[in-house]
Amino acid sequence: MAVAWLEDVRSADLGTVGGKGASLGELTGAGLPVPPGFVVTAGTYRTFIEEAGIDEELFSAVDVDSEDSEALEAAHDRAHELIVETEVPDKVRDEIVEAYRSMGNGEEFVAVRSSATAEDLPDASFAGQQETFLNVTEDDLVDRVQECWASLFSQRAIYYRNQKGFPHEEVDIAVVVQTMVDAEKSGVMFTSHPSTGDPRIIIEAAWGLGEAVVSGAVSPDNYVVDRETGEVEQETVATKKVMHVKDEATGETIETEVPEEKRDERVLVQSEIDRLIELGRMVEDHYGEPQDVEWAIVDGEVFMLQSRPITTIDDDASGADESEESEDGDEHLLSGLGASPGVASGTVRVVTKLDHLDEVQQGDVIVTEMTMPDMVPAMKRAAAIVTDEGGMTSHAAIVSRELGVPAVVGSGGATHTLEDGQVVTVDGEMGTVREGAVSGKPAAGPSGDDETAVGTKPKPVTATEVKVNVSIPDAASRAAKTGADGVGLLRLEHLVLSLGKTPERFIRDEGAEAYIEELMEGVETVAEEFYPRPVRVRTLDAPTDEFRQLEGGDEEPHEHNPMLGYRGIRRSLDRPDVFEHELEAFKRLYDQGYENLEIMFPLVTDGDDVAAARGHMESVGIDPEEREWGVMIETPASARGVDDIIAEGVDFVSFGTNDLTQYVLAVDRNNEHVSDRFDELHPAVLDMIGDTIDECREAGVDTSICGQAASEPEMVEFLVRKGITSISANIDAVADVFEEVDTVEEQLILDSVR
Ligand code: PEP
Ligand code: MG
Repeated sequence: MAVAWLEDVRSADLGTVGGKGASLGELTGAGLPVPPGFVVTAGTYRTFIEEAGIDEELFSAVDVDSEDSEALEAAHDRAHELIVETEVPDKVRDEIVEAYRSMGNGEEFVAVRSSATAEDLPDASFAGQQETFLNVTEDDLVDRVQECWASLFSQRAIYYRNQKGFPHEEVDIAVVVQTMVDAEKSGVMFTSHPSTGDPRIIIEAAWGLGEAVVSGAVSPDNYVVDRETGEVEQETVATKKVMHVKDEATGETIETEVPEEKRDERVLVQSEIDRLIELGRMVEDHYGEPQDVEWAIVDGEVFMLQSRPITTIDDDASGADESEESEDGDEHLLSGLGASPGVASGTVRVVTKLDHLDEVQQGDVIVTEMTMPDMVPAMKRAAAIVTDEGGMTSHAAIVSRELGVPAVVGSGGATHTLEDGQVVTVDGEMGTVREGAVSGKPAAGPSGDDETAVGTKPKPVTATEVKVNVSIPDAASRAAKTGADGVGLLRLEHLVLSLGKTPERFIRDEGAEAYIEELMEGVETVAEEFYPRPVRVRTLDAPTDEFRQLEGGDEEPHEHNPMLGYRGIRRSLDRPDVFEHELEAFKRLYDQGYENLEIMFPLVTDGDDVAAARGHMESVGIDPEEREWGVMIETPASARGVDDIIAEGVDFVSFGTNDLTQYVLAVDRNNEHVSDRFDELHPAVLDMIGDTIDECREAGVDTSICGQAASEPEMVEFLVRKGITSISANIDAVADVFEEVDTVEEQLILDSVR
C-alpha cells in the first residue's frame, strides 16, 4: 500500500509515516476526533525512486563535496528535477488518488504536508524543508506530494547530511494528506494552566478558520475552566472584528469582517465547552502530560488539529531539578548586562570554536566571547548563556530573549574566569553569575514571570493591537504562544547573517535561487506559525560592520560611521538585484498562500525612497494595492515628511525608536560613552512621534512601534493615549505590554465618561 490511513497509524510508526503523521495517527487512535486523512508513507517515496529507476542517479547526484557551493547547487537542482519531473508510477499515483477520492466527494480540499522520518538527526529541520500546501485538490495532489519529497534535497539538507556522514540513502520522507476543516469557530486549548500547571483548562476561541495556532487575527474570547468540576471560572468575551474564511471561488483563505451582530457574541456555547473539556481530559490522560491543543468546530462538531506538550511548564520544572544537588553561593563570580530574564543553573561549557558546539549538552551554560549565528542550535539546548562581549541589542541578547534562555552579556572575561565543568547559576535579570546551583525555585524569580509572560496567561482584550518582534525563525513558535496579534517586525538580518556569507557572496557562490530559497524558508517558518495573524517582514537592514565578520565581509566598504552609512533601503536601492531577490522570496510566499505577509522598508529618508522601493516591488510582480506594505519611521526626515510618504500609498508606518532616537538626539546607539544620553522618552523624540501619529491618523494610515522602547510602560502609555494602532514588543515583554495597554485604555474610557 502506498498510503496508510491515520486511523491505522500509531506513534511507533514514526519510521514509516514521519513525526507529523505519527502524532496525528496517535490522536486518531486514542479516539480523538481528528480530520480524516492518510499518509503517503516513506516506503512509497522509496518505491517511487526505485521503480522509476532514479535512485542511483539521485544518490550519486548528491554525493558531492559540500564545501564546493557550485557542486552543491547543481546537486540540489538535479535532485529536485529528478523527483519533480519523473512520472510517478501509475500504481502509486492511482493509490494516492484513490485514497483521496475515498475521503469524500472527490472534490475535497486537502492540506499536503511533508512529515520527515529522520527525527533522529540532531536537528530535524535539516531533514527536509517541511513543505506545506493548503487547499489542494485532485488536480495537483500528486505534484504537491512530489514537491514534498523533493524538499528532502534542499541544499542545506544535502550539506548537512554530507557533513555528518549521514547517508542520503537512509533518509526517507512521508507526506500527510488531510481534509481541510472549514471551521466556523476555532482556537487553542491548554489542558492545564500553561505557566503553573494547575488543573485549569484555558480555552481561546474566535470565529472562522485558524490554520496554525488559532488565537486569531483579533483578540479571541478566553475561558478559564476548572478541569475537575468543569465549571467556567472566568470568561472574557472579546470584540472580534475580523475572521478568516475560505474564499469559495478561489479556495484561498481570506480575511473578512465579522458580521456586526456576531462581533461581541460569545463564540462557544456551553455544550461546545463541555466537549472541549472532555477532549482536553482525554488527550492529557492519553499522553500523561499537559497538552497545547489546536481545535476547530464545524456544524457543532469539534475536531482536533494538533496536540503537543506544553513546554512552558517543563521549562520551569527543569530549573528546579537542577537545584537539588548543590549549595548556594552568595559571591558573584562575574557580572554583566542582564540581557534575557530568568535564573538557571548548569555546567559551564566554554565554547571557543564552532566545533566545540557538539559538546554543549542539554542544560549546560554556554560561555563564549560572543555568540555567532551558527550557535543557535546549541543555544537552544543551553540552560543559560554568558558572553564576554556585546550589549542589549547584540546577537546573544536578541537570540537568548527570543529563545527564552537567561543570558548575561558583556561580562568582560567570562571565558577566562569560568572553567569548563564548573556549576554556576546565571541570573539574566540581575546580570550576575554565581558559583553553584540554586536550591529550590528562585524566589519570585523572573524566570517564572517570564514563562508566564510567554506562556499565555489569559490576556486582556485591547483595542490597540499588541504584536511581537521576531528575529530568528527558531523563536517563531515561542513568539506565537504569547498570544500576540501578529509579528510587528521580522528582521531579515539574522536570517542572512546565519548564512555565514554576505548576500552578494552567497549569491555569487551558491546562486540567486539558493538565496531566495533560504529567505523563503526562514520567513515561511514564521508566516506559517502565525498564520493567519499578520507577519510584517522587513527588508534587509544590517550596517556594514555587522557584515564584516561574514565570508565576503572584506568586500564591504569601510565606513567612518556605519550607523549613518550604507544600510537599510539605501543599500537595497543601490543593489537592486539583491533587493529584488528578497522581494522575489516574498512574492513566492504570497503565491503559496501566505497572504498574511506584510512588507516593510527600513531607514527611508523621504517619499522618493519610498517610490523607488515601491517600483521594485512592482517589478517583481507584487501589487502594492493588493498587499499590505509600509515603512519604518527612523529618520527625522521621514517623520517630518510623512505626508510625502503617505502619498506613495503606504498602508502603515512603524516607529523604529532605536534609530529615531539616535538620529534626533545625535547619540550613537552603540557608543557606551554616550549611552546615558540615549533617551527614547526625550520630549523631542516624543513630539516627533506624536505629530506623525496625528498626520497618519488623518490620512487613515496605521501606525506602529517596533523599537526597544515599545517594551517600556511610559512609552506604551504615551502611544496608547496618542491612538497608535499597534505596539510590537520583545517576546518576554508581550504579556506586560498587553496589561499596560489594557490599563491605559480603561483609564481613557473612564476619563471620557467623567
Ligand atoms: C529601530 O531602529 O528601532 C528598529 C526596530 O530597527 P533596528 O533595531 O533593527 O535598527
Ligand atoms: Mg532601525
